[in-house]
Parts: sequence; structure tokens; C-alpha cells
Amino acid sequence: MEVTVVGGGISGVACANALASSGIPVVLRDRGRGLGGRMASRILRDTGTPFDGRPVDIGASYFTARDPLFSAQVDQWVAAGVVRPWTDAFHVATPEGIEGVRSGPMRYAAPRGLRSVVESTVRDDVDVRSGDDVAELPDDQVVALCMPLPQAHRLSDRVPDSSITWEPVIAVTCVFEERAWITLDGVFVNDDPVLTWIADDGRRRGDDAPVLVLHVNPVLSAGHLDDPAGVIPQAVAALRRILGITAYPAWVDAHRWTFAKPLAAHPEPFWLSEDGRIGVAGDLWADGPRVEAAWLSGTALGEALASRMAGA
Ligand SMILES: Cc1cc2nc3c(=O)[nH]c(=O)nc-3n(C[C@H](O)[C@H](O)[C@H](O)COP(=O)(O)OP(=O)(O)OC[C@H]3O[C@@H](n4cnc5c(N)ncnc54)[C@H](O)[C@@H]3O)c2cc1C
Repeated sequence: MEVTVVGGGISGVACANALASSGIPVVLRDRGRGLGGRMASRILRDTGTPFDGRPVDIGASYFTARDPLFSAQVDQWVAAGVVRPWTDAFHVATPEGIEGVRSGPMRYAAPRGLRSVVESTVRDDVDVRSGDDVAELPDDQVVALCMPLPQAHRLSDRVPDSSITWEPVIAVTCVFEERAWITLDGVFVNDDPVLTWIADDGRRRGDDAPVLVLHVNPVLSAGHLDDPAGVIPQAVAALRRILGITAYPAWVDAHRWTFAKPLAAHPEPFWLSEDGRIGVAGDLWADGPRVEAAWLSGTALGEALASRMAGA
């Protein structure tokens, strides 16, 4: 019996891989042009700079690995050159400027952008269908919905609703003519009315391109979901203020994430209906909301469906 996985982010790919590795035929459907979901990399075009053709990470900034199973997957990615250890230290700033540096766990990034991690992970025997906006679920199949719960709920009222709120983020990409700021990998911005985070995409990808990605705080983002570009002047002004940059970016663009991250997560690895016909995975589960949790959730759902189907 074939399984349909809807959602080609990291949780959907992990779910599809777990099913396929048990010999179950899997169709993986995603409405995007490619796989990746919120591990999204956009290719720069028509920027008027030498950086056209270069991917920029506009969704997840990086990921960490704590769980041994996920750590083993990360080791494989690193060995294959798909992922690289990026940094264990970020700067910290207030609205007035940089305050210092804070150490933490190793953050991993991808030389070709995080989307490439998802794309290179899907097994060859998974039937991938991109550009496939699913409006109705097949009623004669087992279905795994690997996506934010509000999106899964829209596809089936059998999926429980949740009181957990998802916060939006507008990600603003700034391409400069040259590097015009102190050496840093990323900046956690505290108490700022505009920005929460600044990533140096050149340092993240390892090519030192003068590209920064800014995350606009959830309240301001929520007010600009209908007009993401409208937040650009405030975001650029905040960036220049916080990093003390005098130059203006040569090219700027804004991307809206309506469901960027849930504000809490369930400890259970996934949700599965009693009859085992419909499951939900993603970063709302497995103690998310992180890339690691999404991968663990998708893997666990795929394994659970495979073992139920083997026993049926
Ligand atoms: C701005 C931002 C910053 C982040 N920063 C970090 C970070 O630093 N570290 C970290 O670990 N995590 C971070 N995250 C979270 C991380 O990106 C997610 O936890 C993870 O990528 C979720 O993967 P997923 O597969 O569960 O969902 P998604 O990646 O959202 O995948 C869901 C997929 O379902 C598809 N889909 C939805 N509905 C349909 C439909 N009807 N038909 C077909 N396809 C459909 C979508 O196209 C999408 O590809 C960040 C996220 C954002 C947005």
C-alpha cells in the first residue's frame, strides 16, 4: 500500500525516507518549486551586484544537534560536504549596539544553502512531486501531513486543532557592495522594536559574500504580513544603527513566514489518528521548534506507520 506524505520540508523528507527504507512505496508531494520548506534558500537574481546566482538562507538560520540519532545524520551530512560546522559563538546586541559575544552549542550551516540539505537527503526511491498544491487528501491511502499544524488542519478536520500560537517572521535579505561591519557570524538582538536577529550569510555559507539576513520581530512582522516589503526601511535603519554601518545595501528583499515557529511544542514525537490512516509530524512535536525536532518527528512518524503497515 502506497503512503502519501504531504510536505517536503525536513520532516516530510525524514518521514518519506523512513517509509521507503522499510520497502513501502511513498509519494512525497509539496507545493513549492523544490523541497526544503522553511529550510529555504533563495537564489539571488537581478541584484546589480556580483552575487547573482548565489543562494541565501531566508528561513532557518542554522541548526543544532543534541539527539544521538540526529547527530549521526548530521555527521553523515558533514562527511558528504552538504553541511559544515559554522560557529559556536554569536554576538549579542541591544538597540544601541553590540554588547559582547555569547558562546553556545555548535551551529551547523550549509555551503550551498539549507535547502540543499533537504534536497540531497531524500532517497532515490521516493516519488517526489514538487509544485503540487494539495487541496484534498486521498481517502483510500495512509497520509502523513508534515507541516505546521494550522496548515494540516486546513487539509483535514480529523487533525486536531491546537491552542499553540505560531509566530510570524519577515526575513530581510541585504546585499552590500562590500563588507562594511565588524567580523561576526550572527547577532542576537535583545529588546529592539524592529529586529531580533542578524545573520552574516557570507560567513554562514563560507564564501564571505557581503550578505546579511535580518529577522524582524514577531509583532512588527505580524503587522506587515500583507506588505512584507513595507518593513524594509525600518529594518535597514535598525541594522545600520545596531551594527554602526554607514553604507546602504545595494539590494534588499523581504520574505514573509506566516508560520515561522510555534511558541511551544509537544513532547510527543507526532500525532497519529486511532485508525492509523492520518498522521502529523513537524517541529510542533518532539520538543521542537527546531530543525532537529522536525527531523526526529518525521522519522518517528515514518517508522510508526511502517511498523503498523507491516503488522496489518
Ligand atoms: C525565519 C525562520 C528562522 C528559523 N530559524 C531556525 C533556527 O535557527 N534553527 C532551527 O533549528 N530552526 C529554525 N527555524 C525552524 C525550522 O525552519 C523548522 O523547524 C523546520 O524547517 C520545520 O520543518 P518542517 O518539515 O516541519 O516544516 P516546513 O519546513 O514548513 O515544511 C512544510 C512543507 O509543507 C508544504 N505544504 C504545506 N501545505 C501544503 C499543501 N497543502 N500542499 C503541498 N505542500 C504543502 C510546504 O510547502 C512546506 O515545504 C526557523 C524557521 C523560520 C521560518
